Amino acid sequence: MNKKAIVEEEFLHSQEDNLETLLNKTALLQKQLKANNHLNPKFPSETFLYKKELEKSYMPETGVNTEGVFASLSEMFDGSMRPQSPYALFNMLPSPLLDTVAATTMTQLYNSNSLMDTFGGKTILFEQRIARAIGRLVGWDQSHGISCNGGKLTLFYAIKSAISKIVPESRREGIPKDLVVLTNEGAHYCVEHVCSILGLGANQCIRIGTKEDWRMDVDKLKQVIHDQLAKGKRIAAIVCCGGTTINFACDDTNEVYQCVKQVFKETNQTYFPYFHLDSVIGWLWFNFMGLSEEEWEQRVENPEIRFKIKRVAQKLEGVSHFDSFGVDMHKNGLCPYSTSFFVSKTDECFNLLNDGSYTYGENDYEFGNFRAYRYTIENSRPATGIAAAWVAMNRLGKTGYQEYLVRLHTLSSLFKKELENLSGVSVITASLGWEIVFTISFNRIQSYSSDFDPNEIAKTFIQYCWNETNKGREIPLISIVPEFKVTPEDRTRIAFLLYPMHLFSEDKTGEIISKLASCIYEFETKVLSGEIVIENRLLEKPIR
Ligand SMILES: *Cc1c(COP(=O)(O)O)cnc(C)c1O
Repeated sequence: MNKKAIVEEEFLHSQEDNLETLLNKTALLQKQLKANNHLNPKFPSETFLYKKELEKSYMPETGVNTEGVFASLSEMFDGSMRPQSPYALFNMLPSPLLDTVAATTMTQLYNSNSLMDTFGGKTILFEQRIARAIGRLVGWDQSHGISCNGGKLTLFYAIKSAISKIVPESRREGIPKDLVVLTNEGAHYCVEHVCSILGLGANQCIRIGTKEDWRMDVDKLKQVIHDQLAKGKRIAAIVCCGGTTINFACDDTNEVYQCVKQVFKETNQTYFPYFHLDSVIGWLWFNFMGLSEEEWEQRVENPEIRFKIKRVAQKLEGVSHFDSFGVDMHKNGLCPYSTSFFVSKTDECFNLLNDGSYTYGENDYEFGNFRAYRYTIENSRPATGIAAAWVAMNRLGKTGYQEYLVRLHTLSSLFKKELENLSGVSVITASLGWEIVFTISFNRIQSYSSDFDPNEIAKTFIQYCWNETNKGREIPLISIVPEFKVTPEDRTRIAFLLYPMHLFSEDKTGEIISKLASCIYEFETKVLSGEIVIENRLLEKPIR
């Protein structure tokens, strides 16, 4: 199509009844993906080298028609996961509610910009409504928040707020050298990077040892605080864990808060650290807070599941004393990427996060005057996360989210039962979450020869599974944890991770696990015949 035709098309489709055209175009693109109704957990892909691929990348001299462009775009999906497959068990990747996808699409069609309300209309009001509603789950009735691009940014906003709280002038003058951030040893690996980006330096993040259930050991916490104070450091923030993808590291928020309060009182400090809860996963449990005993029994019939959910809800209770927490609805809120919220107990975050030359006042809260760019990392901002979160929270409500979590646990029990029926497979988790960590003994290989290192067998096996899923086969896509420990004191061992995420696989768990059994058998046969060679492989540290 020549330039003139493209320009004409833009005019044609700039009317609001363009929705049908949009839907047709979307359907055309999906057809190009050749994905309809297959169960493979990944779009097939061949391996490639980035640098070699990039040698061929130029701005095209002339444009081509929609079909041609979509045909080339469809390659972009190669190798990506398909959450609509019951075999997609790799990590916490939900298949988003279609209502949320419809809503985000509409914000893109209207190109909503939530940088200020003159542009984005009520998008910012909806953003604040969501933050207020989620804040109220933990008893905050003045909460505000920021829709952002992922859980890592919720930590970014928290640590930035902490720095500004302890050193307000840092917003204009820069960060002093004496600040540290304390967190749980099981916290997400991005906390150090956030400290680095913020100019604190990754080394100023100190991880605290944990007890057998991965909650911070308050004796160790006390010791670290005393040590840091003795070194002349100031504790800018305490970042507590509110659930992680593996082992569900979750602090006893009350215990940590009281411990810090006591040490700061005893040592007569003139400031108090900022408290953030990394509840990007744990926020789902907020929906259970404040249930009566009778309601607990009604809503969570299975006593084991009730015990687990209740324990988490108890551990998180102290969040009411905190300054902020994070929410990732693209993890366990049935939303697409990115639907994250930084939720602050009050609107003080708007002052802490700006450049130090502005103080928020009543006037800012009048429609037409709201300017989010003063405190957000982005200037222009999409409204996709706001639309998705709003739709999901209103489609499900508290009881919907309660049921969702109960069903994830139930699904996990079904998978565990099936796995435990496989010879050579042992489920080894003791987590309060619903993830499943297990080992495979590969008996046929081990009994043939003791020359093989169990770690190398496991790594070769997962590589085999991943290669097969990359070919588009309908087999389980699971993950590996190279240095798994059940408890902090446990020996490390290599293990596999299966993340049950899709309620639509409830009646397929037997089928899925029998496919895993076939993969194990097939792999062992190929190793024994020499078709697959066990070799040393490097794997990234576990994603937690
Ligand atoms: C996933 C995760 C993060 C990072 O969130 P993104 O949405 O990937 O940016 C941070 N903390 C915890 C506990 C997480 O599970």
